[in-house]
Amino acid sequence: MAKKGELSKTARASLAQRDDVNFATNRICEKCGEPIMLKELLPVKVMGQGMTYYHKNHFTIG
Ligand SMILES: [Zn+2]
Repeated sequence: MAKKGELSKTARASLAQRDDVNFATNRICEKCGEPIMLKELLPVKVMGQGMTYYHKNHFTIG
């Protein structure tokens, strides 16, 4: 029974990880205004503003 539980837990963790990759967050990209998938999420700390969020390929420095 313990062994069965262990296997189940491992399978669950693996599934959860895969789900996380494609998870749609409720963050909105500062640049394009579209919702950001977790895979694409880039949190950026802005002085005086707190956190802002970008698609990884929409954030440019400078
Ligand atoms: Zn964007």
